[in-house]
Amino acid sequence: MNSGDSTCSADRKVALLTGITGQFDSDFENDLKESDHGTENEQSADESQPNLPAQNEAEIPYIDNVLAIPSAHVRDQDVDIKLHQVVLRMKQPISGSGQNVADGSYLAEFLLAKGYEVHGIIRRASTFNTARIQHLYADPKSHRQGRMKLHYGDMTDSSCLVKIISTVKPSEIYNLAAQSHVKVSFDLSEYTAEVDAVGTLRLLDAIRTSGLDKQVKFYQASTSELYGKVQEVPQKETTPFYPRSPYACAKLYGYWIVVNYREAYNMFACNGILFNHESPRRGESFVTRKITRSVSKIALGQLECLELGNLDSKRDWGHAKDYVEAMWLMLQQSEPEDFVIATGETHSVREFVEAAFRHIGKEIVWEGAGESEVGKEKGTGVVRVKINPKYFRPTEVDLLLGDPSKAKEKFGWTPKVTFKELVKDMMDSDLELMKKNPAA
Ligand code: GDP
Repeated sequence: MNSGDSTCSADRKVALLTGITGQFDSDFENDLKESDHGTENEQSADESQPNLPAQNEAEIPYIDNVLAIPSAHVRDQDVDIKLHQVVLRMKQPISGSGQNVADGSYLAEFLLAKGYEVHGIIRRASTFNTARIQHLYADPKSHRQGRMKLHYGDMTDSSCLVKIISTVKPSEIYNLAAQSHVKVSFDLSEYTAEVDAVGTLRLLDAIRTSGLDKQVKFYQASTSELYGKVQEVPQKETTPFYPRSPYACAKLYGYWIVVNYREAYNMFACNGILFNHESPRRGESFVTRKITRSVSKIALGQLECLELGNLDSKRDWGHAKDYVEAMWLMLQQSEPEDFVIATGETHSVREFVEAAFRHIGKEIVWEGAGESEVGKEKGTGVVRVKINPKYFRPTEVDLLLGDPSKAKEKFGWTPKVTFKELVKDMMDSDLELMKKNPAA
């Protein structure tokens, strides 16, 4: 299908990624940065060249701090404050960012290693938002671009998408851009639809407007949240969808518009129905990272107790590194199809908590029920986990368990990282982070 012209031939390896800088949370970090330190460094950013946010060496430690400094007291536990920050953020032009956490940065690494020229679309922000991909610059200190190039763009701005696509002429496009937090989507439902649903349509139309619909291979970051109130266990490509949040409803539109453009215009467009995938780069308000960050702080005596919502929901958690390979593999097939990417194992939030505490040599014993349930440290009796109903969702997805057999059969994909290894990777990384910077 990839019978392109000379500017976009089948062997040309140019990938365009939306959502390259990570996810929603990176903006939150930037908001904090702005409020903590003012915007004096804003002047140092070269607005026309997103690859060059800093002008001189002296400013670079400041950029590194975007990763490390933000105020732990609000970020650790409090989605409500996060919402407030997000609303403030909307005064700026914004678009989606990485759908599932760190996919953009892992995918960029993966594609660069495969010899691709990688172009990323990033939002204009008043502060730097490239922390998750900083190490991929040819020269990270001066942000000199190598085979990775960044472009300012926005999923809510069709003309900029057309401009970028017709200039870059990518051979593959990975649409990871999204407002990806389920709970946040109940409060920012219209914005979530704007970016996650209509944004996908805008990108597909931009490919057509650029005249590249027969050359470009398109990956859409679909999600296991589409299954919501699950209609069968495990969930596979043929399982009916039943979305349970504004996020999932927006993604449902994204899924079907990809299928529609594939059928209507013969485009090479695939949905990757990815189940939850985690990593040390996962945003801090998602439950796995919230747990590993907090348990690391507890291990180091920086925090006494962690507050969570529903402990009994179950997720099929894999490692983001494994999942970006599956995205790429989908686009290397001879025919475009949709694939479930999952581990085929499910664990409860409670089990994740227990595994994280086990990593620091503590056993958690549960006492009580419902909102009064607590997790106590065996031996000392210190309460380490409490329930806070503010983390409950208006409608919950109770159980996700994916069946990845089609991906295994068609292109031999299987996950490499086990649940235990995932928890270890995230815990080791957060212990290191908190040791270096207790305020992280
Ligand atoms: P999701 O599957 O995309 O919604 O990923 P999350 O990591 O945000 O949530 C996974 C599950 O953990 C959901 O069922 C949440 O209700 C549950 N959960 C329990 N406590 C918390 C919490 O404090 N924060 C978040 N984000 N989720 C929680």
